[in-house]
Amino acid sequence: MLPQIKIPQDVMEVIKRFKNNGYQAYIVGGTVRDALLGKENFDYDVSTSARPYEIQKVIPKAIPYGDFGTFLYVLKDKRIEITPFRNDAPGRKPHYSIVDSIENDLSRRDFTINSIAYDPIENKIIDPFGGIEDIKNKIIRCTGSSKRIWEDPLRALRAVRFMAQLNFTIEPSTLYAIKAKSPLLETISRERIRDEFSKILLSDYSYEGLNMLFLTNLLNFIIPELLEGMGVEHYNKPYDVLEHNLIMSKYLSKKLHLKLVGVLHDVGKPFCAEKKEYGLEFPNHHEISAKIAEEVLRRLKYDSKTIKKVIHLIKHHMFIFYPEDDLYKARKLVFTVGWENIYDLIEIRKADRLASGFPQAIGPGLSNLINKLEILQKENLHYNLKDLAVKGDDLIKAFNLKPGPLIGQILSYLLDEILKDPSLNEKNILLEMAKNKFLPQEGGNLNENRFNK
Ligand code: ATP
Ligand code: MG
Repeated sequence: MLPQIKIPQDVMEVIKRFKNNGYQAYIVGGTVRDALLGKENFDYDVSTSARPYEIQKVIPKAIPYGDFGTFLYVLKDKRIEITPFRNDAPGRKPHYSIVDSIENDLSRRDFTINSIAYDPIENKIIDPFGGIEDIKNKIIRCTGSSKRIWEDPLRALRAVRFMAQLNFTIEPSTLYAIKAKSPLLETISRERIRDEFSKILLSDYSYEGLNMLFLTNLLNFIIPELLEGMGVEHYNKPYDVLEHNLIMSKYLSKKLHLKLVGVLHDVGKPFCAEKKEYGLEFPNHHEISAKIAEEVLRRLKYDSKTIKKVIHLIKHHMFIFYPEDDLYKARKLVFTVGWENIYDLIEIRKADRLASGFPQAIGPGLSNLINKLEILQKENLHYNLKDLAVKGDDLIKAFNLKPGPLIGQILSYLLDEILKDPSLNEKNILLEMAKNKFLPQEGGNLNENRFNK
């Protein structure tokens, strides 16, 4: 019996249009794979005997997309990629030749699970490489020969990505090729590597994916810095630095910046390790890790917003909050790291604890912080200079000051006072406090010379 594959009406229409014009057209690739797995995929891959210029005639709204004769047809809630039957030149460089049969087209695809075609009108499946059997057995296997891996070394990463997304096993000869040819990853553009690496991080089995990158040597060609952590033991954790960095991924939610923080948060430890009698210490490792993370992320061409966020979080991931700390300490922490980051930092701390072998994610200090933050939410302040009821100009006017470093000093003093007690955040009160603090010996009268000297 054929597996059930549901294809939406508007995608059927596209297939019909090709057929009515005398061409063959099939649903292929990830669409068939995911449909067979019962997963939704809003990217539809269609393969057709029509040549590129003919595709455009059949679907005039389709736009050329990429270097392989592919067209993209965007509908309201889905994207259809329409590709002519083709073969790739080795290296998957944009030299391809049009081929005449779907079987030929399927033979150039990467893995058997991606080399199945479906004709939804005839309800016919074309599966020359045993892809359905491999889907049933949860196996990733090169289509035809493990040469597929070195013809386009990105496929090594794609194999790990599918393994991590689908919880599949990579069959031995594919695996051997991936490992043996891992250095070829250096011939692949950083952007393509970055995109696959991000997909691995965001997959359901990201930790297993990262582990596989290590076991196949691919990690060496993506983030070699992580390898330095192998065998660098923690005196207080059951994992070495490499394992600890990778395990973090298990405990973080599927957000790219958090997953990147997880894998890189302690990358600097091997570079600052100091031997003590009880074991290694890693002074300042958060700063060193942030610096290395920045180099890594720039090399992998992540966008600057992501890089900035990740390094800020790594820099602050060692924040301290004790069970007895008060609201002032909590406000100071929010002031230092920003509201937009504090809950990320809590999530990172929870993951860090679990990835260190602690049985519970939340200790007494973190629990105290979470409670304090609930109170601070109601104060509705960011605890930065923008919140202060007094600005530099107010000080200049009130005390006849000239712009200079003193203004900054007074503002920081006032900010610190409202961190202690936000109810003081009123203009008159703050001006009075400035006066008392900076000129107490003159009985509260401001002395212009003193301020302006
Ligand atoms: P997803 O869209 O979920 O990322 P997918 O399998 O659809 O997964 P795409 O990148 O959309 O992946 O590619 C569509 C199809 O094109 C694949 O299923 C595969 O058959 C083929 N393909 C994509 N990239 C390669 C490659 N590097 N080498 C060989 N075939 C590829
Ligand atoms: Mg796809």
